[in-house]
Amino acid sequence: MQPGDLLSQHFRLIQTQVSALKRLHIATVEDLLRHFPARYERAGESSDVSRLVYGTKVTLYGTLSKLEAKRLWKSRRTATEGYFEDQSGKVKVLWFNQPYIAKMAPQGQLVKLTGTVAGKNKPYITNPEIEALPAGFILPAKEDALFDSASTSNLEPRTSLFPIYPETRGITSRWFYHALERVFQHGVHTSLADPIQEDIRLRYHLPDLATALVWLHKPEKETHAEAARKRFAFEEIYAINITRLREKAENDTMPSFRIDGAETHVARFLDTIPFPPTAAQKRAVRDIITDLEKGHPMARLLEGDVGSGKTLVAAAASYAVVNSKPREQNFGTLQVAYMAPTEILASQHFQSFIEYFKHLPINIALITGSGCKKFPSKSSPGNATDISRTQLLKWVKGGEIAMLVGTHALIQKKVEFKHLALAIVDEQHRFGTKQRRELAHKGDAAPHFLSMTATPIPRTLALTMYGDLDLSILDELPPGRAKISTKIISRGERGSAYEAVRRELQKGRQAFVICPRIDEPDPAKINALQAKSAKAEAKRLAKDVFPEFRIGLLHGSVTPREKDNVMRQFAAHEIDILVATSVVEVGINVPNATVMMIEGAERFGLAQLHQLRGRVQRSSHPPHCFLLSETKGQVAMKRLKALEKSDNGFALAEADLAARGAGDLLGRRQWGMSDLGMEALQNMRLIKAARDEASYYIKNDPTLEKNPALSARVAALQLTAHRE
Ligand code: ADP
Ligand code: MG
Repeated sequence: MQPGDLLSQHFRLIQTQVSALKRLHIATVEDLLRHFPARYERAGESSDVSRLVYGTKVTLYGTLSKLEAKRLWKSRRTATEGYFEDQSGKVKVLWFNQPYIAKMAPQGQLVKLTGTVAGKNKPYITNPEIEALPAGFILPAKEDALFDSASTSNLEPRTSLFPIYPETRGITSRWFYHALERVFQHGVHTSLADPIQEDIRLRYHLPDLATALVWLHKPEKETHAEAARKRFAFEEIYAINITRLREKAENDTMPSFRIDGAETHVARFLDTIPFPPTAAQKRAVRDIITDLEKGHPMARLLEGDVGSGKTLVAAAASYAVVNSKPREQNFGTLQVAYMAPTEILASQHFQSFIEYFKHLPINIALITGSGCKKFPSKSSPGNATDISRTQLLKWVKGGEIAMLVGTHALIQKKVEFKHLALAIVDEQHRFGTKQRRELAHKGDAAPHFLSMTATPIPRTLALTMYGDLDLSILDELPPGRAKISTKIISRGERGSAYEAVRRELQKGRQAFVICPRIDEPDPAKINALQAKSAKAEAKRLAKDVFPEFRIGLLHGSVTPREKDNVMRQFAAHEIDILVATSVVEVGINVPNATVMMIEGAERFGLAQLHQLRGRVQRSSHPPHCFLLSETKGQVAMKRLKALEKSDNGFALAEADLAARGAGDLLGRRQWGMSDLGMEALQNMRLIKAARDEASYYIKNDPTLEKNPALSARVAALQLTAHRE
């Protein structure tokens, strides 16, 4: 058996296993070794059927029987019913809306059941999770009677930590356990080259690859599993750093547009705006000027709290570019592309840039899914005018449009620039080197790149995940902003919070109500989130609470067109209260909105809540944010209290990272990282070490040719990122 062998060469697989493995992207023996357990099951955390307590979560070991798919006559929904039995008794189990359970669940064989006890008088268990257990699995002591004690002791000294692999239909943890057992017997794990060099392993006390694989899949004690996980986490973060640093090195060798006299241009621009830039804005602008005057493409991330004035910084950079001529040419200008995440934002920015640049002899244009505009209009020079897409594309390609603002429509292949020198991406978390290069005109120099985000990503984290970008931070709001008052509202205070909202609305202000869900909770899911749904809440507010005001609804599953339409109505004050899910998070500017209620606030990350409340902090009217929580849990309250006290997005983000991990801050999907890697991002020491080692390594072996195993790891990582 070789690491690169296909699993099908060594294992007889049934069709459901084949498709499950395919879904998990496990093809080879090595893939199997690198499929990590999600957690370990420990004997001793279970209950038994005779001691079920209504409303509690239980873990039981026993067998299923008499499973049968049924149709519930009252609700006409499908359900599966059956029995679960252990030594102490029998209990009914019930799954809603999962008719396949009757066929899929293993009956008559030892399983582990996890679920919540329903039924006050006669207990039953709804929607439990079922896991088939391997033969020889050691049950918690009190269940030992299921086996006779002699056979139990025969199984010693088997591990009491049993690996549980991520849930997939069609393949069980038990299968993995046995398959890996055979792989280990063949010693395949010892034939793999270790991507982490020995000196690094010694420095951080990391087990070598072969040892770590054994400890990961069949740990004899918790410390082994822990050490193995730490090693693989380090490996992943190390490989990410290597990737980013290589991208950065590559970026630094590409030619770009040198903007001569950027400093003079920017100074002239700053003279035209009616307020002085903040010290933070000045620092960021300075960083950018330095980049633009170099011959290589800028690759910079501008992080700044909502309302910190990122647009002004982007405008200053753009100003320098649109005032520069292409090399060896004494007419025309270099071009800027500015990409926003939504149509409404693109239109807003288009307007802002017209304001900033209207005194210049240049054309500014807007491209979105619903049409194109150009400023100035030939017939009415003070205004923008609609133009056809074909016309716009022609002018952009010809270089007549100096500044093009738009949505994703902007990076489509058909949009070709003549001299694209600066690309700006607003509120876009990740935009890879590859996409950046695609923006560049064929064969021409690569554009400077500025990415802007309001997510306060702690520095250490940014250095890893955005390690290919340099970092500028706006840690200061422009003066004169009214400070936001944030208040946690207890159940009894809901009425007075509504009154406070009403007072603002009566003064002519507008309000947001943010809900954690889109639809009504499904009453069949007994442990479904009780979270308020945006739809239901909009209805309720219109009927019972604010019948005299106009209420709008916005959530992630409306079309982009509808979404823009609602936002436009809200911006035009045709709507007083906007009930929404967190989709409003992204940089919308409605200065007249001064009050926000956040339902189920404990469900959001602190950084996200902070970003949300930033939506009502856009003017000098004193803004209010009310946090409503569905739990009175101590932990949740403590988190929310931090928000009452602090208005520093970075401090809140650090707290969030420590408490809830990186998922909230980075978004889960776009990184192609394992759960283990995501988890490791909380470990500041580990990520700093991985970063230092990676940057040291890359200096000595930039092409990774001395370490093929590392090279392979890096390639695999990039592959996963593309798959996501
Ligand atoms: P964000 O960083 O969230 O994108 P914006 O660029 O939209 O913030 O700026 C928010 C508001 O602050 C805008 O109305 C802008 O005109 C204003 N602004 C920006 N910089 C300053 C400043 N230095 N002094 C006063 N107001 C400013
Ligand atoms: Mg913005």
